[in-house]
Amino acid sequence: MNKPVNRHPFPGTPKRVGRVGAGRGFSAANSNTRISLPGRTLDVSAFAAPASHARPGNLGLNSDRLRAQMIQRLRNQGIQDERVLDAMMAVPRHVFVDEGLASRAYEDAALPIGQGQTISQPWVVARMISAMCENRVPVKVLEVGAGCGYQAAVLAQFVKEVHAVERIRGLYELARGHLRELKLQGRVRLSFGDGMLGLPNTAPFDAIVVAAAGIKIPQALLDQLAVGGRLIAPEGGAAQRLILIERTGPAAWHREELESVRFVPLRAGTQS
Ligand code: SAH
Repeated sequence: MNKPVNRHPFPGTPKRVGRVGAGRGFSAANSNTRISLPGRTLDVSAFAAPASHARPGNLGLNSDRLRAQMIQRLRNQGIQDERVLDAMMAVPRHVFVDEGLASRAYEDAALPIGQGQTISQPWVVARMISAMCENRVPVKVLEVGAGCGYQAAVLAQFVKEVHAVERIRGLYELARGHLRELKLQGRVRLSFGDGMLGLPNTAPFDAIVVAAAGIKIPQALLDQLAVGGRLIAPEGGAAQRLILIERTGPAAWHREELESVRFVPLRAGTQS
């Protein structure tokens, strides 16, 4: 837990703008520094083989090949943590999106999940989890902003205890259905509530990931981080950055600013 911290886990990785907004196109505030990916329209032949993670609503698609391509792209983008890459290979992202978007599930894009929210871009998920788990084996993790449950499912592949909170009732139920479908309901404890308050009765957490951007990282979350643990969250309004915080003592937190990003806003309270 207390290994020295590499402050630049992805040397040479250009600054990126990852759009995790409300699914209305992509903002590219730093588009000149954005890694450009081959723009690829997925062709239907990719879905022809028998499915390992098929479900009736999703064309019976075999997503293994597309997922392997996504993993290769993440490697090319500087993601090195094999636990994260293996986890993202194992989780069928298409299960988490609407049937009509299943063919786009393995693009490096945020996609709408309803209620004005999005499933996070694969690179963003990989980057956040890699940074917060670097040189660590977190046992108990909190995710604020479960959305459709994708990131929680990825975490559950290698973290023993994942706690995830969602403030919109409809999405909480959506996530619950997805996690049940993948038989992950035992590994992810999902709650409906305001994640800005954290889960004081379950804290401390070895790692905390926040999937929505607040103007300031809530102090309640910093307080619920174990000493030696890490929190990663987007911070800001129109301009946002990923912030990586490590709790270095009972009353000491080290803060580091990472890439520019674009997330949906962190909001207080719940919505039924
Ligand atoms: N983690 C998701 C991303 C969901 S988008 C994924 O795996 O793709 C961010 C989510 O944060 C939205 O569903 C939004 O409703 C939720 N959110 C925003 N503020 C919140 C809060 N205070 N508590 C819990 N969830 C919150």
